[in-house]
Amino acid sequence: MMQAVQRKPLLWILLVPAYLLLQAGMTALAGSHAEAVSYLFCTLAPALALLACCRCAWLSAPGVARNGWALLAAAMLLWTSGMTLSAWQDISDLVASRATYFSDFAYFMYGAPILLAISSIGEQRPSRTLQWLDAVQILLAGYLAYTAIFNVSPFDRRSAAPIPIELLVVTYHVENLVLACCASLRLLAHRADGEQGRFYLLLTSFLWCYGICAGSYNYLTLHAIESAGLAELLPVLPFLLLAALASTTVPGREETRIPRPRQQLTLLIDNFSPIFFTASLLGLGFVIMREHFYLAATALFVALAVHALRSATLQSRYMQSENDLRAALDKLEKLSLTDGLTGIANRRCFDQTLQLEWQRNNRNGTGLALLIIDIDFFKSINDELGHPYGDTCLVKIAAALHSALPRASDLVARYGGEEFAAILPATGQPGALAVAQKMQEAIAAAAINHAPQRGGKVTASIGLALSTVSGAAHAPEQLLAAADQALYRAKHNGRNRIEQEWME
Ligand code: GH3
Ligand code: MG
Ligand code: MG
Repeated sequence: MMQAVQRKPLLWILLVPAYLLLQAGMTALAGSHAEAVSYLFCTLAPALALLACCRCAWLSAPGVARNGWALLAAAMLLWTSGMTLSAWQDISDLVASRATYFSDFAYFMYGAPILLAISSIGEQRPSRTLQWLDAVQILLAGYLAYTAIFNVSPFDRRSAAPIPIELLVVTYHVENLVLACCASLRLLAHRADGEQGRFYLLLTSFLWCYGICAGSYNYLTLHAIESAGLAELLPVLPFLLLAALASTTVPGREETRIPRPRQQLTLLIDNFSPIFFTASLLGLGFVIMREHFYLAATALFVALAVHALRSATLQSRYMQSENDLRAALDKLEKLSLTDGLTGIANRRCFDQTLQLEWQRNNRNGTGLALLIIDIDFFKSINDELGHPYGDTCLVKIAAALHSALPRASDLVARYGGEEFAAILPATGQPGALAVAQKMQEAIAAAAINHAPQRGGKVTASIGLALSTVSGAAHAPEQLLAAADQALYRAKHNGRNRIEQEWME
């Protein structure tokens, strides 16, 4: 199985300071074109991160990690688009001022795919329906949050007064902090989950680095602190680190996650994330209700519809899982009571049945017969005709014994080695003797070859014990001991015969 491995991380990490030095140097030398050069580097960094994330998504095995990389790539695309729009607007004066809202919208919405990547439930078979529902909720919640904060929708014809820069900065700080905290929680829950755990580690590192760099950049620019152009490098740094780290990751072609029981905290985090989105959708819908009625009504309707769909999907998934689980349990129970070689009941099943029938006989006193069937000279079969042939004989004998049982309530089991045992409930002495004889006839009819010096055909000796005594004075072990005693006599008296023992 291929594991995700790191390839020459140091070389890639060294490219980060090289890029930053080049950016600082070229911006300083560009003179009047400094802004254009700075924008070029600021756009190139998220574009490189976008390429690195696409590569990881392409190479990853289908599953949570691949979805995560694809969503992170979508976030990088939004950021690169926002940066391109900003550059376009700042460098050429031809663009209408509404482009500002589009670029702000792109920056703001970059959090939506990241939130979706964080909220993807770490299941082996994630439901496509639930993923789409989450995506719809997050995108709409992002759109609503933007509308609530900026009080304008990017596709609205109305022009709005620009929002105070302080509010804009606080908005982005809150968004960055929420994303980093949510990712950290997710990492806490899934850190040991192979590919998925490694993805969350990288995502969390990126988000914290991004939050700190963006916060420092905003602080320096808002307070007009002179930083000799170094502040311009801050927004670039997290994307370069992401590009470098993602380039050093070689994701596995197969999902290497070993399914393990999910902890209480993991379950809580997993189950809370989608409800959080529905709640934010409802909350934001109410906030913008006065200003944007139709948008708010749509949000409320979507929240309710998504909640209903999610509940129905989850309910049917749980019912399906429950059915699968029940079928698997039944199969497992059947397997645990079956002998692997012969396919008839095993010793465990025999012990359980004997206990049950013993108690029933104690209550009803209808009689209980026990037969122990031992193949004669079986060791010679193995020694002279080979062990595999011995196994085939056991399978044929088991089938013969089973065919000799007259009632559905009778049971024949492999008692151990080349010994079989049969339980015949509600059976008296004549009936038990008849069954024992029928078993010997069935073995004879199977005509299984034995060594010539042992008579040429396989035979069996049978010890029969009968209990007609009701009451708890005896134990099933005594019935077994009696049958064993009878078998010993059958062997002693020349084999291929039936002997009986009565319980007092
Ligand atoms: P007896 O007539 O006195 O019962 O002679 P025996 O050779 O059958 O008696 P014994 O109990 O000494 O030998 C039982 C043999 O059964 C020994 C063991 O190698 C063989 N045996 C037990 N389990 C298996 C099995 O699953 N497959 C095969 N091929 N042989 C088995
Ligand atoms: Mg034996
Ligand atoms: Mg034997």
